[in-house]
Amino acid sequence: MNPKVISAVNQIVELLQSDDIGEKIAIATYPPYDVPCSKWSLPNQLLCLIAGTYDARGFRQWKAAGRFVKKGAHAFRILIPRIVKTVDMASGEESLSLGGFLTAPVFAASDTDGADLPDYEPPELPKHSLMDVAARFNVSIDSIPYQNHIMGHYSEGMFGKRIRLASPDETVFWHELAHAAHHRIAQADYRSRTTNQREVIADLTAASIGALFGEKLTTARKLKDHLSRHSKNPGKEALSLIKIVGVLMHGIINNTSETAAA
Ligand SMILES: [Zn+2]
Repeated sequence: MNPKVISAVNQIVELLQSDDIGEKIAIATYPPYDVPCSKWSLPNQLLCLIAGTYDARGFRQWKAAGRFVKKGAHAFRILIPRIVKTVDMASGEESLSLGGFLTAPVFAASDTDGADLPDYEPPELPKHSLMDVAARFNVSIDSIPYQNHIMGHYSEGMFGKRIRLASPDETVFWHELAHAAHHRIAQADYRSRTTNQREVIADLTAASIGALFGEKLTTARKLKDHLSRHSKNPGKEALSLIKIVGVLMHGIINNTSETAAA
């Protein structure tokens, strides 16, 4: 087999064995943005997500859209089925069958420049538990196209407080809600934390929310990794992280009118 085909197939096989395969398939099959790759096969959509984009196109497709590939940008490869035509000697009938795969180079939207990118039509967000808390915190929730490996994002600034989601996954929303709660309920603590600490706090909070709603999220590996790599005093830091997660959980639960499953 062609080494480029093997490499593309291997990437998909590797993803199939990873923890976030469900999340990736959920993103690939939703949202239905009106971009060429939304009509590609699921393996090719997954190759786009591995490359960190929801909008990838071939060199000529980008040119037709008024954009050009930036100098030095690297293409990634998608799989193109190679269809072979066979003729039945006896009947003379022609039939088409899959003869294997070829690959084609494509470029992510972020590797191109030129005319404006299409207005990615935002999909309707599914209803997630605790969305009422975001409303009470004056945080807007919008959907964004998946680009540059970002599943979700919380920001506060001149456009107000916003949660943006590129995934229909409820746990992604809870993670961002945790950031929003941290910023709102314990602003001084939020400001004093490193990005890494904020992420661990958001993950632990999301896992605790998950437990309330009957979803088991694993954060052990991330927390262990954080404490061993970024912390001078793991015991002290673990206590300080847990303490703030407790504060955020109280703040979130006190601000919802929903009743959890468990
Ligand atoms: Zn985060």
